[in-house]
Formats: sequence, structure tokens, C-alpha cells
Amino acid sequence: MAQALTDAERGYLETLYWLHEAGLAMTAANVARAMQVSPPAVHEMIGRLEREGHVIRGSDRVIVFTDAGEHQAEAIVRRHRLIERFLTDVLSIPWDEVHEEAQRLEHAMSPVLEERMLAAIGDATTCPHGHPIRVGTRVPGVPLADVAQGASVRVLRFENEAEDLLHYLRSAGLEPGLEGVVERTGEQEIVVAFGERRSAVTRSVAETVSVLADPSPPPRVALPEHLVLGAQRYGR
Ligand SMILES: [Zn+2]
Repeated sequence: MAQALTDAERGYLETLYWLHEAGLAMTAANVARAMQVSPPAVHEMIGRLEREGHVIRGSDRVIVFTDAGEHQAEAIVRRHRLIERFLTDVLSIPWDEVHEEAQRLEHAMSPVLEERMLAAIGDATTCPHGHPIRVGTRVPGVPLADVAQGASVRVLRFENEAEDLLHYLRSAGLEPGLEGVVERTGEQEIVVAFGERRSAVTRSVAETVSVLADPSPPPRVALPEHLVLGAQRYGR
């Protein structure tokens, strides 16, 4: 059995899992961009994860999980989303303030606490940003930025949980689960009408919002630069 993971290793496994789930290549370059750390730092940590049996680096530089590594990564991601849901639903913390809090708490969580939290969130199946708590049950969506004017949309999830971006989305009035109609798709801005209410977001932010749309544009994998988890990535 592999030795216990450090917090830093967990952070890397989590980022790798986010890439994997979003359909992006698990490469050192994408990890470096997502975590906003230097390529040598990523190289070193991936080497460590490889020696400890969590990942394998292929000859094409693509990183692959071992079964044990994938299992670990899933557990980390599940815990993160569960904590977020607990913080919003049970402790009434606004959904744009829970990501970093969960990041701090997830490392200290025991299986017993996890069980209790799971019971406390009732039948919620996603984190407050729309990501499935039971990983592997992700509903495919398309970026809001691709949707044609006049299409009906249902907001599925926010692909990037950088806290500054979540603040922006919340103040724009977007939320997973909302249903509306795309009213305008400009070069700079996308406007969605939710009944009487209008939400306007920049096109680059709309790249990070996954929706179900009718009619739907063709499926497209998100752009790696839009999925970074770090702060200060969004010119708006
Ligand atoms: Zn979340």
C-alpha cells in the first residue's frame, strides 16, 4: 500500500482529476497552468507521485493514473465537493465562498466525518457549483459561449472554481440549475434571460459555464486556459 499522501500531493492529484474529468490532457504543462506553479515544480511532484505508485508518465508525456492513484484522486475530489455542499446547505455559507474553505478542510477529513456530512446533505448529488459528488456521474454539457441566440439553456456547472470567478458569477446572477433563454451573444458579452431577470457575463467567463442547450451546439472540450483553478486568471 502506498504511503500517506502529503497535502501537496493531494493537491496535484486533485488537479489531475479535474483535467481528466474535463476531458483535457493530463500533461505537466496543463497541471502547471492549472495550479500556476512552475514546470520544474510540477516535474518534481509528478516524479514523486510516480515513484509512490499514483501515476505513470507515458513516453508521450501524458500522465495516467494508476488504479490506486485514480481511487485516491476520486476520494479527494468527492470529499471536496461534499464539504462544499455541507458548507452551503448546512452552514449557510454563500456558494461563492466555499471552494477555498473546502480546500483547507478536505485534507483533515476522517471517514467518520465524511459519513456524517453525507448524511447531513440529504439527497444533494452535486457540489454547489454543479460538479457531481459521486464522481463518474458527470452530465456532458457545452460551453455557454457556444450556444446560439434564442436557445434554451439549463446551467449545469461552473468548470472553474477560482473564487474571484465565483464571486463574479454570483453577482451576475448565474447559478447551477437555472433555466433560461440566451437573449444575446455578442463578441464581448453573453446575455441570458431567466424570466424577467437578465444575466450578462463576458465571453471568456461564458467559456467556463457548462450548460445543456436546445438547440445544442456540437460538443466541445473546454479550453485548458479556461479551466485553471488558481486566482486572477480572468480579465473582465
Ligand atoms: Zn464546487
